[in-house]
Parts: sequence; C-alpha cells; structure tokens
Amino acid sequence: MQNFFQRIAAFMQGRYGMDTLNGFLLVTAMVVWTVNIFVFNRLAHYIIMVIQFGILAWFIFRALSRNITARSAENRAFRKVFDPAKSRVQLTIRKIRDRKNFRYIKCPVCKAQLRVRNIKGKHNVRCPKCKSEFEKKI
Ligand SMILES: [Zn+2]
Repeated sequence: MQNFFQRIAAFMQGRYGMDTLNGFLLVTAMVVWTVNIFVFNRLAHYIIMVIQFGILAWFIFRALSRNITARSAENRAFRKVFDPAKSRVQLTIRKIRDRKNFRYIKCPVCKAQLRVRNIKGKHNVRCPKCKSEFEKKI
C-alpha cells in the first residue's frame, strides 16, 4: 500500500493538484450528479450527464496540469468572485442562527459587520475594527 501512495505522489510531482476552484468543480459535479438522479426526461438526463463529465474533465485537467502559473491565475480570478459570495452566505447563516439574540449591523465608516445584542432601544456601538463610535436604534 505504501508503494501505491508513493507512486501517486511521484505521479503528482510537478502537477497542480487541488485548489479552491477544483474543490468547487468537484462539489458542483457531485451536486449536478445528485440533481440528475431526479431528471427522468431522457434527453435532459443525457445533456446534464455530458455537462457533469465536462466539469469532471475540467477538474482532472486542472489537477494534472503542469502549467502551475496558469492554474494559479485561474484560481485567483475565481476566488475574487467566490470568496465574497462565500462570506455573504456565511453571514446569512450566522444571521439566521443568531436571529433571537443578536442583530447584525454595518459599521458606517469601514463597512465591517458588527453583531449587537437584540435589545430594543438606543445603542452606543464602538466598531472593534476601526474604533469609530456611532449610535444605533433597534
Ligand atoms: Zn468600523
């Protein structure tokens, strides 16, 4: 077994491997595959299957690529879009989870998201990031 992993390591030597974009491609391919289980129209099913294999082929191409500079540039471009979207989703999840006890507000100066206790009335808020103080009514 050790030999098997050594062979894989040797094979991956100098190749690009995993990054955020490839993780995203893999998850997307799995989601498409799952959705396709419930597609009963034959033609639609085959079209979705082709798309799924296309995504997987792109994933394999990127993981095995030796052009690391180009793949890194792709990943940087992807993360410029993906990271803000991801933090927006995470913030929404936090808002839903904390909805009883906390309220999320934006600092008017640095736009940082601040969490304040969900108590009615005026609050003196001090932004921990930029140290500016402001009043917020809940
Ligand atoms: Zn601030």
